Amino acid sequence: MNNNWIIKNSPPVVCGILGESLKFPSRNIYCVGRNYRDHAKEMGSDPDREQPFFFQKTSDVLVNDGSEIEYPKDTSNFQYEVELVVAISEDAFQINDAEAKNKVFGYALGVDITKRDLQKKSKDSGKPWFSGKVFYGSAVLSDIVPLKKSIDPDKMRISLSVNGQQKQNSGCNKMIWNVFELISILSQTIPLKAGDLIFTGTPAGVGQLQKGDLVSADLDQPNAISLSFSVI
Ligand code: MN
Repeated sequence: MNNNWIIKNSPPVVCGILGESLKFPSRNIYCVGRNYRDHAKEMGSDPDREQPFFFQKTSDVLVNDGSEIEYPKDTSNFQYEVELVVAISEDAFQINDAEAKNKVFGYALGVDITKRDLQKKSKDSGKPWFSGKVFYGSAVLSDIVPLKKSIDPDKMRISLSVNGQQKQNSGCNKMIWNVFELISILSQTIPLKAGDLIFTGTPAGVGQLQKGDLVSADLDQPNAISLSFSVI
């Protein structure tokens, strides 16, 4: 460890862990686009033809369960996307699917929040999705369920409700590319490191949020986890 930094090093954004007092230090957030057929179709594309593609959020935009998220001034189409999130436990570079299973610290529930109008504008003009996807509060994360308390992701379900009305609900076995394939594919070009988080894509049912909405989401498994946040 180098203690001779010329400025003070910033501590990582903290993530809670189910049943543990120790915390998980977040690092990069990688997100996969269109990883459920039903969502790819609702966004107007043909998922069967696509290799997975990724974008990245910085963990500095991450907020925890129970947050109040301010409706941004620069959008009029502010949307939720509930996702299974994988937390990485140790360095992983150029590994295969089987090795990927040993790099998982645990699973959490996340909401990838999107300014859909800005994302569409970027898409239509061939620019990166940055303005629509990366802003403070654009990643909401529950506590992480450690691997030893978790079942296989194929057997989990994720769901999201707005003001008590269910909008999204899907088995995680509906992913086009499963968790371990995603880790392996990302690791071919990027050295994944302990603390990285992967948002694994959203099922159908994405929609708009308004000021005053209360959002709740659930990761359904024996050690279930949930999160909620409000839009102010
Ligand atoms: Mn997403």
